[in-house]
Amino acid sequence: TDQTKIKWDKAPCRFCGTGCSVMVGTQNGKVVATQGDPKSEVNKGLNCIKGYFLSKIMYGKDRLQTPLLRMKDGKYHKNGDFQPVSWDQAFDVMADKFKQSIKEKGPTSVGMFGSGQWTVWEGYAAAKLMKAGFLSNNIDPNARHCMASAVVGFMRAFGIDEPMGCYDDLEAADTFVLWGSNMAEMHPILWSRLTDRRLSHPHVKVHVLSTFKHRSFELADNGMVFTPQSDLAILNYIANYIVQTDAVNWDFVNKHTVFKRGTTDIGYGLRPEHPLQKAAKNPDSGAMSAMTFDEYKAFLSEYTLEKTVELSGVPADKLEALAKAYADPKQKVTSFWTMGFNQHTRGVWANNSIYNIHLLMGKISEPGNSPFSLTGQPSACGTAREVGTFAHRLPADLVVNNPKHRATAEKIWKLPEGTIPPKPGYHAVLQNRMLKDGKLNAYWVMCNNNMQAAPNLNEESLPGYRNPENFIVCSDPYPTVTAQAADLILPTAMWVEKEGAYGNAERRTQFWHQQVSAPGEAKSDLWQLMEFSKRFKVEEVWPAELIAKQPEVKGKTLFDVLYKNGNVDAYSLDEVAEDQLNDESRHFGFYVQKGLFEEYAEFGRGHGHDLAPFDMYHEKHGLRWPVVDGKETLWRYREGHDPYVAKGKGVDFYGKPDGKAFIIATPFEPAAEAPDEEFDLWLSTGRVLEHWHSGTMTRRVPELYRAFPDAVVYMHPKDAEKRKLRRGDEIVVQSRRGELKSRVETRGRNRPPEGLVYMPWFDAKQLTNKLTLDATDPLSKETDFKKCAVKVMKA
Ligand code: SF4
Repeated sequence: TDQTKIKWDKAPCRFCGTGCSVMVGTQNGKVVATQGDPKSEVNKGLNCIKGYFLSKIMYGKDRLQTPLLRMKDGKYHKNGDFQPVSWDQAFDVMADKFKQSIKEKGPTSVGMFGSGQWTVWEGYAAAKLMKAGFLSNNIDPNARHCMASAVVGFMRAFGIDEPMGCYDDLEAADTFVLWGSNMAEMHPILWSRLTDRRLSHPHVKVHVLSTFKHRSFELADNGMVFTPQSDLAILNYIANYIVQTDAVNWDFVNKHTVFKRGTTDIGYGLRPEHPLQKAAKNPDSGAMSAMTFDEYKAFLSEYTLEKTVELSGVPADKLEALAKAYADPKQKVTSFWTMGFNQHTRGVWANNSIYNIHLLMGKISEPGNSPFSLTGQPSACGTAREVGTFAHRLPADLVVNNPKHRATAEKIWKLPEGTIPPKPGYHAVLQNRMLKDGKLNAYWVMCNNNMQAAPNLNEESLPGYRNPENFIVCSDPYPTVTAQAADLILPTAMWVEKEGAYGNAERRTQFWHQQVSAPGEAKSDLWQLMEFSKRFKVEEVWPAELIAKQPEVKGKTLFDVLYKNGNVDAYSLDEVAEDQLNDESRHFGFYVQKGLFEEYAEFGRGHGHDLAPFDMYHEKHGLRWPVVDGKETLWRYREGHDPYVAKGKGVDFYGKPDGKAFIIATPFEPAAEAPDEEFDLWLSTGRVLEHWHSGTMTRRVPELYRAFPDAVVYMHPKDAEKRKLRRGDEIVVQSRRGELKSRVETRGRNRPPEGLVYMPWFDAKQLTNKLTLDATDPLSKETDFKKCAVKVMKA
């Protein structure tokens, strides 16, 4: 407490995957100030503009303070108006709907859409409730829309998820390559570190690749604008250049890699009757098979400089300069990417192709040599990935369709064998289709705004939410587009109104204490999940055969079985200082967060995912896993850095049984939809610096709202001229799926080439995703938000 009587405590920023730490100032029960945490190794006292205004995100005038149910004549009605109800009334109706669905249609008729913005224990408690409580794997996080391709890429190449490097690479690399990443706006603090390195070390070079010019081009020594989807060809051209110029690091390749054929094509993930799905090629279905180096070399040989120039539109000298940087054994290269690679019908291939390049050169797992997949959300890694909130996953990279993995989870959870269903549940896009088709009927959306974020809103999302057979619940602090499409809205505590933990893009786990109370009746997602579980007797949701395996569960509730199980309730409140006690622990009578975290940590300890003891995280400003004997790991798989690599091994990719990473041959393939005569422009979507995702928090901060009030469509001046448009004109943007009104912008921070328009999706008045195509990567099921065809006309 300082002279102004402001109390300061640390917390990670609520927004992006950079994971900056902020100091939060509270006074009279309100957050009144935030500042960059000077002790943070991530942001070293700095924040970006969103971070500086964190103190205001909780105080929008329309903050939800009580549950709201659609009602008519005093009871629930699908087409009724929202009316305030008590938590008891809300949970009564909701529990009835879940029970009725499970009874009539089985566990696969219930589902949940969660978040990479959930705290670690919220994601864990949710996954447990769905998978082991309701026996449904139909839980998926919004990270499906942002990180799923990165996950599959990591699992295929290394057998363990998440980057091997860390942000310290920013101070060690000689060359940076940004693949479809606009770090200047999306990861501004990392960008400031990169800029510092570039400007203070004249030999350092920056290559930036994108489908349009953006702010990161301002620092680029080699800026390249490529035709959408041709990144796949550019990646293979670089690998070909390394092979053709004999630059391969043979010592590394022979010791630490194997070659695989990597095309397991099963189409674009659209509905089977979709014309684009029918047109999908099927070059090689089945599992990855072995390949020799000579076969790999022959595969690469078609990606010549000439062909790559033709496909990508990038001048030959620029491509060569990029290839030379990777092929030079003396240059340390760090490659960064985010949505440009991941939101791609071939996102997994793009991820694998960049690993190929780093593996061919041995430029990996050491300071400055790093293929680095950045995350969008604050806990895409810590919660969505590590906790296993995906429809096919369990904690610590375990998966539901592996019997041994299920048995491990059931043992830790003290549940009977056969509790967790073996079939992966519905992923994000499939959930919307199943809602529309009436196969998913009781559905809980938490900590995301999917009605604004999901692709193809008109045809798939909205019809699913308003299908009369379905009951949709949305937990949120604000009345988002999703909340307004739901049947029941639950008011949610946010950020420092609860105790939490996030895991950022460099494997850093960061904790915070509850610092203020939530307004009105708002409760944290954790409270909601655990309290709701009390409404279900095991007999109401489990089949008799399962109960027979553990008869002592008879008569108990899901709360008893899942959370009062000897693990989660193991920590009493006697040792917790009064000013650090959180609302959930007070309510349930034990240290809920500590119990959930320690149970969850058991999955990874001793298996390369080691987390530190709970209390240590409250003392430190974050630790990067694996944390062994209190020591964090900066570079994985490298002797001297990673405790899992035995002395004398040098490098050990221990996620693979033989310790060897996969170099996977993945070809170029055209986009699912491309411009034609009628829809003659590419549309790419994304974010802007001032707004977080769908803008529900940042648009309620007056300063951020004023800085970028409404979405616009960035367009090349010649494209505008052809359509007789002037800057600021109102336009209609139309795709095969829907249309919206916006305004044209021909200047400013984003400069698309002719033939492409860029539109951010933060603006609830202009639902960009009415236009986008719901084609997904066939392996990761992640949507391609970066490419579809549109036309633009004067309104
Ligand atoms: Fe840091 Fe991202 Fe928060 Fe900005 S939004 S302060 S870069 S974590």
